[in-house]
Amino acid sequence: EHTTPTNFIKQIVEEDMAENKYDEIVTRFPPEPNGYLHIGHAKSIVLNFELADEFGGRTNLRFDDTNPLKEDEEYVNSIKKDIEWLGYEWDSLRFASNYFDQMYDCAVHLIKKGLAYVDDLSQEEIRQYRGTLTEPGKESPYRDRSVEENLDLFARMKDGEFSDGEKVLRAKIDMSSPNINMRDPVLYRIAHATHHNTGDTWCIYPMYSFAHPLEDAIEGVTHSICTLEFQDQRPLYNWVVEQCDMEAQPKQIEFARLNMTDTVMSKRKLNWFVNENYVDGWDDPRMPTISGLRRRGYTPDSIKQFCREIGVAKVDNTVDVRMLEHFVREDLKLTAPRTMAVLRPLKVVITNYPEDEVEWLDADINPENEEMGKRQIPFSREIYIEQSDFMENPPKKYFRLYPGNEVRLKHAYFITCQDVIKDEDGNVVELHCTYDPETKSGTGFTGRKVKGTLHWVEASHAKDAEFRLYDSLTKDDQEGEDFMDKVNPESLEIVNGYVEPNMASVKPEDKFQFFRHGYFNVDPKHTTDEQIVFNRIVSLKSSFKL
Ligand code: ATP
Ligand code: MG
Ligand code: MG
Repeated sequence: EHTTPTNFIKQIVEEDMAENKYDEIVTRFPPEPNGYLHIGHAKSIVLNFELADEFGGRTNLRFDDTNPLKEDEEYVNSIKKDIEWLGYEWDSLRFASNYFDQMYDCAVHLIKKGLAYVDDLSQEEIRQYRGTLTEPGKESPYRDRSVEENLDLFARMKDGEFSDGEKVLRAKIDMSSPNINMRDPVLYRIAHATHHNTGDTWCIYPMYSFAHPLEDAIEGVTHSICTLEFQDQRPLYNWVVEQCDMEAQPKQIEFARLNMTDTVMSKRKLNWFVNENYVDGWDDPRMPTISGLRRRGYTPDSIKQFCREIGVAKVDNTVDVRMLEHFVREDLKLTAPRTMAVLRPLKVVITNYPEDEVEWLDADINPENEEMGKRQIPFSREIYIEQSDFMENPPKKYFRLYPGNEVRLKHAYFITCQDVIKDEDGNVVELHCTYDPETKSGTGFTGRKVKGTLHWVEASHAKDAEFRLYDSLTKDDQEGEDFMDKVNPESLEIVNGYVEPNMASVKPEDKFQFFRHGYFNVDPKHTTDEQIVFNRIVSLKSSFKL
């Protein structure tokens, strides 16, 4: 039974609209361009864009690029691409760095009001003076500088007279506030660094907690949605908006960030996997990045549907990664063509089938969606089956091939295993089987039943393919405290096998359901004219229940 997921932010907006508080809902998605977006960001994207859209409002994409040291154009471009791929259109594209002049003016405004001062304490001293939860902070000896002196020093900070760390601009609020964020937070720091957008124009940069409320207010954002760790910063957010005399009064609302089982969810940690060459870039199909999920074969709809269904709450929790997998299966079930692929091939010779004959069999492209039509697959004397579909000495209840047993070949005939061919080392290299022409699929044969149905690929027309089978990059149940202890040593397995000949024309990112194996995506990076590389998106079944 499906219940509507709760979204307390939507309720707030509904009430605001009922009270006519705003002409229009304005939200923003504010990524820092210091990495690629991950599935956690998708939650925020879906929330911000769909909330505004539902109430006829708009959403800005704003790059929070106030830290010149970690930011890069590559990230800006990947973020834009990912949001577009998810299917959202931002109203206006902004950079926090576009507002550096206005932010500087706001800082000067605070100095003039006696609400900000230039401090010569070092970063370490400021930290020590700040106090603790149980101990009030101590005022800086520079706190009582005159407005004139502060204006002069701040201008000289801007002009590059001082080196990094020599001075900062701090808000003058309350060193004994129970909220440590209110104990004269730093507003500006010196960083002689080239900024990806403003170059060398600035050598002072605003701190996030000063810049963010100003960015929201400048853009007329009504609901500024962020994650729970910013809850304690809300009084400072409101202080900045109020004391800078901003016209708009954005409201900060915090929600629980997405955590997922067996999944690392932080740009810093994901960056580690990239830097250590543990993965094939930010878009490695094992990465929980949007670009990794795309390369893996996830669809925009599956990601969005997942984000809508997890709901929006105020309490942290961890979502089962199998819920994400559930939604991609749901999305691909009716749209992905079904076909057969043999991942670890074992040759079968059908000894009573005429030599040099090939017959073409009819098969549904998707039996759950007949509109997709039919495909033709070849059948002949030599085929491949899966190695794991044969056992010389099977246990009880093994219904696949073993000497003397009969099975059904999907879309084709019943075959019986007659002989097992081995190499010098005793490995099974080939099976000799016989087929029964009476049992042809689609003819209505009811003479006898078999319990096993195998997939297969005809040998002479088969197309070579590589299959990449994935498991999560990290496993929660591994011993250790650090995410690096949780790294799964077996997150990738590569095997080589065959697909049906009609797969010769596939394009990057085409998606298929391989009978019995699951859903696969044509890898856009490693597929060549010679060889198709398939990424397994998910296996077919899961014990997960929504
Ligand atoms: P990370 O710690 O992974 O670097 P971040 O919060 O520092 O994440 P930002 O670029 O600042 O990354 O995030 C942009 C927006 O995405 C923010 O509004 C942030 O709250 C939101 N966001 C980031 N991670 C998550 C998450 N796991 N769940 C929900 N929202 C998230
Ligand atoms: Mg951030
Ligand atoms: Mg971060």
